[in-house]
Amino acid sequence: MLTYQDIIKEDDPRLRQKSLPVTLPLAEEDLQLLLAMNEYLEAGYDEEKTEACGIRPGVGLSAVQLGHLKKIIAIFAYDEKGGIFHYGFINPKIISHSVETAYLPSGEGCLSVDREVPGLVHRPRRIKVRSHVYDFKDGSLSERVLALEGFLAIVFQHEYDHLNGILFFDRIDQTNPFHIPENSSPIVFKQEE
Ligand SMILES: [Zn+2]
Repeated sequence: MLTYQDIIKEDDPRLRQKSLPVTLPLAEEDLQLLLAMNEYLEAGYDEEKTEACGIRPGVGLSAVQLGHLKKIIAIFAYDEKGGIFHYGFINPKIISHSVETAYLPSGEGCLSVDREVPGLVHRPRRIKVRSHVYDFKDGSLSERVLALEGFLAIVFQHEYDHLNGILFFDRIDQTNPFHIPENSSPIVFKQEE
């Protein structure tokens, strides 16, 4: 079982490198890597495991955060209405995005960044993704085009950035970290309304 110690941190140069496409069908070692990433995310929702196994909870992980420069992402998150989103992505590509942007009012966090970074990250509110998608529910893997919006689009783009060597604070306006562009609006969760 992976622990927080297994996740490489921001000073590791691998986080600045580009990840490479994965060959399909998925090799056993790549599947095991994806499943281990998912196991970590799942443990983050289990209070006993977070304490016992030294887990810092997160909603997404990219393979590079475990030191593997492979285009693999795992996401286990709930959208603004409490809907579950629980998939693995192999060789994902963002094929289009909205002009309208969105941001998390409390800013973004990252399992590879072990500190608070003040500032807002504005990202397209809606994206379309083409990817081989692994469904953690039934273990199926198929190429799909998904439309994501709001929180899920933010989470996906954060992980996708990792595949390109980008960290979330690269996208914070250095001179005015809390600036809100005209086309940007906050992500609001249902229970907060
Ligand atoms: Zn991250």
